[in-house]
Amino acid sequence: NIGFNNFKINYSGSMAKGLPKRSEDFSAWYNELVKKADLAENSAVRGCMVVKPYGFAIWEKMQQTLDKMFKDTGHSNAYFPLFIPKSYLSKEADHVEGFAKECAVVTHYRLKNAEDGSGVVVDPDAKLEEELIVRPTSETVIWSTYKNWIQSYRDLPLLVNQWANVVRWEMRTRIFLRTAEFLWQEGHTAHATKAEAIQETEQMMEVYATFAEQFMGVPVVRGLKTESERFAGAEETYCIEALMQDGKALQAGTSHFLGQNFAKAFDVTFSNQNNELEHVWGTSWGVSTRLMGALIMSHSDDEGLVLPPKLAPIQVVIVPIYKGDDQLAAISEKANALKDALQAKGISVKFDDRDTVRPGFKFADWEMKGVPVRVTMGHRDLEQGLVEIARRDTKEKSSYKVEVMEEVITNLLDEIQENIYKKASDFRADNITEVNSYEEFKEVLETKGGFISAHWDGTAETEELIKEETKATIRCIPLDAKDEEGVCIKTGKPSTKRVLFAKAY
Ligand code: AMP
Repeated sequence: NIGFNNFKINYSGSMAKGLPKRSEDFSAWYNELVKKADLAENSAVRGCMVVKPYGFAIWEKMQQTLDKMFKDTGHSNAYFPLFIPKSYLSKEADHVEGFAKECAVVTHYRLKNAEDGSGVVVDPDAKLEEELIVRPTSETVIWSTYKNWIQSYRDLPLLVNQWANVVRWEMRTRIFLRTAEFLWQEGHTAHATKAEAIQETEQMMEVYATFAEQFMGVPVVRGLKTESERFAGAEETYCIEALMQDGKALQAGTSHFLGQNFAKAFDVTFSNQNNELEHVWGTSWGVSTRLMGALIMSHSDDEGLVLPPKLAPIQVVIVPIYKGDDQLAAISEKANALKDALQAKGISVKFDDRDTVRPGFKFADWEMKGVPVRVTMGHRDLEQGLVEIARRDTKEKSSYKVEVMEEVITNLLDEIQENIYKKASDFRADNITEVNSYEEFKEVLETKGGFISAHWDGTAETEELIKEETKATIRCIPLDAKDEEGVCIKTGKPSTKRVLFAKAY
């Protein structure tokens, strides 16, 4: 039998050389993994990425699942333009201030040949009358449209989502986690009452949390952002925060209660049932390709990706071990039968019958790509009616009778999904530390990292001071934080609740 441990000895080449160790250089490990698992690569434009087919297949699974969840909660998809007139962006003061530093701006619409023959240059005669902003987010263009869509209470609520790309000219970028252009969905809803808009904001945060936990296998803290971390133009930002294996936090999704800010900026009113004009209440919410980064950093190991079955593009791979065409033909018959049976149950299966690479290479390749279950069909085993099943998450291998394969694999996929979540939950539980002094805070931050639960006096000044001195930020005020009398770790002023600090991506 060729097992997981053999290929490293038998096969050289880039694949077998493996990854840097997480414990030694988490950042190098992540970058190499993104490359070796064929997920994405950097592009000629700094901060932009090419998402490769295997990476995109995972993103598509995320999209399909989320899209269904949005539709199940009453939303419809639409599409708004990439370009925003500069004057629109300026209409909501906080909004433009928050995004101004990251905007890509279109100033011209034509190139021409340079007179000295040196190539093409921007045609100065083709200057746009009004400059266009490449959308960093679409509130402004959408609220300017909603003005025409909403007149009466009968037009509400308006529940729209769009799948799109946006551009934020970020200075420090990293594939998936923070890119200059990223893919996302953005929900934009309009409501007749404040209470209904808040309910929508909370509902969508809960949709994100459910997706993260039940599909990605990533436990998240549901919370509120502090004022300084709030979305530009929002009254309140709800978020889900996840913990990565290196003890750093990652904001994985946000849901904003916009109050009437955008309705006022774009004059979006409706006549209520008493025929009085009122401004509309709004929300917006988004998750991005950052979730790919969260998925990778939460579960993967030194051998490669570990994917939760519910998001794995290939859930089961079958690798034949054979000599000669006759043996391959016999194995293929069994493999294809198993493949058909599993596919009939909605399980995605790949029969890897490439004859250009050896089994050890295939094992390493699928291990790197995080396929949850590997079935090895060897000629000799099959003669005894046995096949070997290996699970990616624990790397355990066992042999089973051919007849029980279907059932074993179906159950195993569920078990892996649960185990991945449990492992991440246990890790997080071990990495939330309560502290009661600033010394303790700094000590835990340096030695252990993770989420630190501490009292804070509620001011932006103290938050900023702590950030400057330690690089830790307040990730959120957890929604389930208990009322508890305490004093701020930095200023000693009174506090009634603990908040969660962490160094974050
Ligand atoms: P926001 O509109 O700022 O609330 O962001 C919406 C979502 O996009 C959040 O889940 C963020 O984590 C994510 N996000 C924000 N900036 C970036 C970026 N530069 N790259 C990838 N994802 C991002």
